[in-house]
Amino acid sequence: MKELVQEKWNKRPLIISGPCSAETEEQVLETAVRLHKTGKVDIMRAGIWKPRTRPGSFEGIGTKGLPWMQQARKITGMPVAVEVATAKQVQDALHFDVDVLWIGARTTVNPFSVQEIADALRGVDVPVLIKNPINPDLELWIGAVERVAKAGIKQIGLIHRGFSSYGNTEYRNAPMWHLAIEMKRRNPDMMMINDPSHICGRRDILQEVAQKAIDLDFDGLIIESHIDPDKAWSDAKQQVTPERLAEMLDSIKWRKEDVANEEYHAALEKLRQQINHLDDELMQILGERMKTAEKIGQYKKDNNITILQTNRWNEILQRAFDRGDKIGLSREFITKYFDAVHMESINHQNKILNS
Ligand code: PEP
Ligand code: MN
Repeated sequence: MKELVQEKWNKRPLIISGPCSAETEEQVLETAVRLHKTGKVDIMRAGIWKPRTRPGSFEGIGTKGLPWMQQARKITGMPVAVEVATAKQVQDALHFDVDVLWIGARTTVNPFSVQEIADALRGVDVPVLIKNPINPDLELWIGAVERVAKAGIKQIGLIHRGFSSYGNTEYRNAPMWHLAIEMKRRNPDMMMINDPSHICGRRDILQEVAQKAIDLDFDGLIIESHIDPDKAWSDAKQQVTPERLAEMLDSIKWRKEDVANEEYHAALEKLRQQINHLDDELMQILGERMKTAEKIGQYKKDNNITILQTNRWNEILQRAFDRGDKIGLSREFITKYFDAVHMESINHQNKILNS
């Protein structure tokens, strides 16, 4: 890998920015110059081929945009990154000396496409970033990483860009942070950056999502920027100017992973012991709860009664909401927690009823 890219790849936090799409040569170059001027951007991104949900919208400028990216690098010294979705796009991007490739969410979802890209990457020394698939399926994401790694790519990074979800949320793609956390747990040495732009779909909440990612120890951010965001040919609502990006990055509180301070470590250790103790107690109590559920199961079995009783379930949830409100537990958490506890109870009762 080229030295400059290697240096950027290892920098923390790693900041990638640039337009959703390359539109014109002037737009690409002006973006590059203004991003470079902030002094805060490590790698410039731009979409050359755009995977659009519906045909007819702007589908990317295509190969003719690649020399613009080369020119942007020449002027600013910033390495450049583009999305690739087919073998041909990999070849074109490499032909024009693109420094970093990324695989988009609509591609990660399809093992055939990922394999095609991986085959095109065999024997090539280029870093590849892999976005999470659009659906919340960790195995697909891991599968894509494995395919690219098997092709011999050494520098692989992850981009968490959120997941399509049914129903209205305030996000374009629900972050489902727990999935990113689990992906990190399974790949502790792999860089993971966050993409607030595609999570939010709108600029007013970019900052808080970026902050949350940094608080969760992400290695960096990829944020879309445009010289005139409202006039962008794709993803206009979520883009910010390079200057606004710089302000945002300035107001983020950058956290360290650790600090060499004995007092801090001792205090933390004590609190962690308390957490361990509380977790043990919770598990103990949950075990007792399941034993009680089994007793109820036995009564239901003796009297030939169904396991699920909707009225009772509503009553449990309502009680929990009321208590939760008082002690500061969110309804979202209460719902998830009680769903999990309830399903476990049902499984325990099921075993009794069918034994
Ligand atoms: C993009 O980065 O412009 C893009 C298409 O993102 P995603 O693959 O996350 O939808
Ligand atoms: Mn985009």
